[in-house]
This record gives sequence, structure tokens and C-alpha cells, in this order.
Amino acid sequence: MADQQFDRAAELIGLSRELRDLLTTSYREVQVRIPVRMDDGALRVFVGYRVQHNQARGPMKGGIRYHPDVDLDEVRGLAALMTWKTALVDLPFGGAKGGVTCDPKTLSAAELERLTRGFTAMIDRLIGPFEDIPAPDVNTNAQVMAWLMDEYSRRHGHTPAVVTGKPLELEGLPGRDAATGRGCVDIIRAAAKDMGIPWPGATAVIQGFGNVGHWAAQLLAAEGAKVIAVSDSRSGYLNRDGLDITKLIQHRKRVGSFEGLTGVERISNEELLALPCDLLIPAAIEGVIHEGNADRVRARVIVEAANGPVTLEADELLAGRNVPVLPDILVNAGGVTASYFEWVQNLQRQSWEEERVNQELERILAKSYRKVWAAAQARRVSLRTAAYCVAIDKVVTATKLRGLG
Ligand code: NAD
Repeated sequence: MADQQFDRAAELIGLSRELRDLLTTSYREVQVRIPVRMDDGALRVFVGYRVQHNQARGPMKGGIRYHPDVDLDEVRGLAALMTWKTALVDLPFGGAKGGVTCDPKTLSAAELERLTRGFTAMIDRLIGPFEDIPAPDVNTNAQVMAWLMDEYSRRHGHTPAVVTGKPLELEGLPGRDAATGRGCVDIIRAAAKDMGIPWPGATAVIQGFGNVGHWAAQLLAAEGAKVIAVSDSRSGYLNRDGLDITKLIQHRKRVGSFEGLTGVERISNEELLALPCDLLIPAAIEGVIHEGNADRVRARVIVEAANGPVTLEADELLAGRNVPVLPDILVNAGGVTASYFEWVQNLQRQSWEEERVNQELERILAKSYRKVWAAAQARRVSLRTAAYCVAIDKVVTATKLRGLG
């Protein structure tokens, strides 16, 4: 999918075959074995990957995921996506991604720590504050980043800037946790007028109530939007008069799920995607809006908070029906933008206030949105293709200025 999106934009900006080859190939791909002594004394060998896609615009940046489905191909695609995302929002970074094939739910905390330290030891010479800076991704969190920083620092001296998404107590960034959801709302605010979204009174439907979804819901409600439906992997919950998001979050904290919630109608995730609303915000997993259901979407605008929630086929169908899609590389760039602030804060031995984080985040994202909107208007293309054109152009310019290679 990443390659097809790249190709479409590359065609449009008339990119040479040589540059296409250069930019669709990883700079470096590493597969490592990680032997881990399990709690029962047995030795298990895990496989990990770090793919560094491009460093024309700066040190490479990208998360590390722990998941049974992690393989080289997935990590490679996600690394390229990071190159385009960081270029689009003009952060001085290239793109990378890493992962370990494992099911962290079956590992104890001690096993997870040994796995993380083992993986760090294996990629230790490839990463660094001016080389490649990992961050959390699926199933990795601030604690995992703390272990990674500690293992790296044991070998190289105290180096907080080697990784972002750290706990606040270890030079993490205030507001980092909310940044992706907040960025999503910043983009909606910036786009509202152009896209005819009533603001602040828009109706919103959000699929997925994890890190991104719950922050987006909370911040949208705080700005006066009416969030009428949300869901998790089990079910959706609807109240056409608007859900009480604070109550929802408190309920889930108390009960551990949405079970037993009152004043809501239970609906399926498929029904949720077909609700009439101003903003449909898929914030869960990839591929949820596809050929088979794109015709049923009745939203004014789709806001891709998750990575790749709209398939290429659905994209075409939605374009045919004049349903604009605010693309993932723009909408969820708030996370990596906040990571950039954390890196800057660490390098300068400073500590930022959350207010400054939120202000800078909005400034960078609003500016990026305007560039994408202008490119879409000038080239008469979708916002997604426009975003790729802007991003690729920046990487190409940097590559040429540095001398190809
Ligand atoms: P998360 O694991 O915290 O939450 C995911 C949510 O989606 C959960 O509520 C889960 O129940 C729900 N879900 C899972 N499968 C579902 C299904 N089949 N149908 C409906 N809901 C389902 O994840 P997250 O960190 O919020 O990330 C969500 C998406 O945003 C992912 O695509 C991720 O790659 C992307 N993203 C996240 C960040 C970040 O900073 N967290 C940054 C950039 C992109």
C-alpha cells in the first residue's frame, strides 16, 4: 500500500526512475536473533528487525512494535511511511521502524525486560541520538523505552535522546501520551472551514478507544463537538444526543470495559462506520473501510487517525462520492512531532511545559495541513496524494542537495 501511494505521487511529480529506485529501497535492514532466558529456565530465541529507510533529512526515527505478526515486510513498509510522515510535517528526521516477533501478553515483566535489553544490545551500534531514535509502537510503552535507554546508556553513557516516549521521570515529555489524539483534533480544526465541517459543533464517530481514540474523543468533546458513537474491538456504543466522554472513560477505568454502560445503544463496528455524521474517525486498525463497505459510509469527512484504515480501493470509491479523506500521514503525525520535542528537550538538557508542547504541536500541524490543502488544490488531487507529493518533494530536494547516495 505504501509503495502504491508513493508511485501515484511519484508519477505526478515526474520523479525519475533512478530516484524512485533510491527512495523505495531501505538504507539498511537488519534481522537479529535475541536469545532470552525465560522464567522457567528454558532458552527461547526471538527474531527482531530494525529497518532504516532514509536519512536524507536527518537521523532516522520510528517505533518498535512487539507483535506475533511482525515480519521484515511489515517493518519495511512502516519504515518508509515514517520517512514520508516526518518529511510532511518538516521534522529534521528520516524514517525507520523496528519490531520483535513475539506475543508480549504471554511474557512476564522480567521476560519482557530481558527481551528488550537483548534487542537493544543487538541493534546498539545502529541506533543513537544522531543515527536512529526508536519510540513506542504497538505493544511497547514508556517502560520498554526506559529499559532501552538504560541498556544503551550502560554502553555509551547517559543518553536520554536515544529514544522517545520515555516516562516523565526519565526525561519524557509532558503531553506525549495525548499528542497523537490531540494532533488529530488540531488537523480537524485547521481543516474545518475548507471542508465545510461545522466547528466547533461537529458530530463525530470514533472507532477504537485506545490511546489515540480516547484522547481524540476527550479533546473533541472539550471543544464542543458532539461525539455520538465510539467503539472498541468488542462493540460500538451510540447516543445520538452525544455521549458523555468523561463518564465513559471513568466507567472503563472502573469496570475495565464498556460493559454495563447506561444511556447508550449497542451497535456493531460495521453499523458504526455507516452512521451519518460530520467526522468519521477510524482510530483502531488498518483496512476497516474497504471495497465492501465504503458505499455505506455516510460521513461528511473521514479522518484517518489510525495507520491505513482506508484501503486503496475504498479511497477511489469515496473520491467518486466526494467524501474527502484526511490522510493518516498528516492526521496521526502528532505523535512523532511530540517525539521530536522530546528529543530536542533531551539534547538541550531542558524540560518543556505541557502548554508549550501543545502550542508548538498545533502550530506545526496547522502549517502542514495548509501545505497539503494548497497542494491538493493546485494539482487537483486527493489530500492523500497531495501529502505524498509534498513529502516526497522534500526528501528528493534534500537528497539532491546532499549529493545522491
Ligand atoms: P491502542 O492499542 O491503544 O488502541 C486500539 C483500539 O482499537 C482499542 O480500543 C481496541 O479495542 C480497538 N480495536 C482493535 N481492533 C479493533 C477492531 N477490529 N474494530 C474496532 N476496534 C478495534 O492503539 P493506539 O495507540 O490508539 O493506535 C491506534 C492506531 O493509531 C494504530 O493504527 C496506530 O498505528 C496508529 N497510531 C498511533 C500512534 C500513537 O501515538 N499511539 C501514533 C501514530 C499512529
